[in-house]
Amino acid sequence: MGNRLDGRVAFITGAASGIGQGTAVRFAEEGARLVLADRNVDGLESTRAMVEELGAEALVIPLDVRERHPVEDAVAQALARWGRLDIMFANAGISSPKPFIDLTEEDWDQVLAVNVKGVAFCGQAAARAMIDRKIPGRIINTASTYSEVTAPGSGPYSSSKGAVRMMTKVMAVELGPHGITVNAIGPGWIRTGMNPLTDPARLGRIIPGIPLGRIGTPRDVAGAALFLASDDGAYVTGVTLFVDGGWIIQ
Ligand code: NAD
Repeated sequence: MGNRLDGRVAFITGAASGIGQGTAVRFAEEGARLVLADRNVDGLESTRAMVEELGAEALVIPLDVRERHPVEDAVAQALARWGRLDIMFANAGISSPKPFIDLTEEDWDQVLAVNVKGVAFCGQAAARAMIDRKIPGRIINTASTYSEVTAPGSGPYSSSKGAVRMMTKVMAVELGPHGITVNAIGPGWIRTGMNPLTDPARLGRIIPGIPLGRIGTPRDVAGAALFLASDDGAYVTGVTLFVDGGWIIQ
């Protein structure tokens, strides 16, 4: 048991920034080899520099998760490089804040394509690679506290994250017999590119609702991802682990 990832190959989407970048660094600290995928190429190079500084090997793949074939090709590249895939962290996500009655078809399509279909394509490609090689792999999907509670203006986002949680259960049921665990992480208020959380007035409204009394960091979320990816998380599957300082419970 333990949380070392020595030699394991971890594929992370949304790796150019925020939670994905923080998790790449955390996994690198524990000895993982990293596949860094994102559509933001400059950000990917920053993450590559961070993990290589820690001595980790990294394969950088510019990728748009909305399309199935590029995702499959990216997994094939990882397999060609290292011959295995142990961990898939399907983390890339976007939001499109707008009142429900103003939402366009395009608003729905954009958010669902990244947050739902992208997660599904990554999970499918990873699961096939793991099953073919008899690897008891780990798949982790990024949901949100907004899959459980919500606020005005978050129609496609909250809907997509609810779908991620249910998809996680479906995947856990179907992939469990292959020894693969599938879990979701539900971040709360985490300071990242998507959610800079710099406005003092907004912080003044949010922080009193967080029992731990502070905004979260990508490293806070990375710790939960590491638990689910490591031997310590071996008997956990189908759950959503909220990483929110307790925000959701009050
Ligand atoms: P972020 O914007 O810093 O990172 C998201 C990354 O996803 C970016 O690097 C972006 O380029 C990438 N991305 C977006 N669309 C993509 C696509 N089509 N293909 C490939 N990459 C794409 O934001 P973050 O906060 O680190 O978000 C990571 C995940 O955490 C998301 O799924 C988000 O919904 C979730 N989340 C974040 C918070 C928060 O407070 N920050 C809260 C709950 C959930």
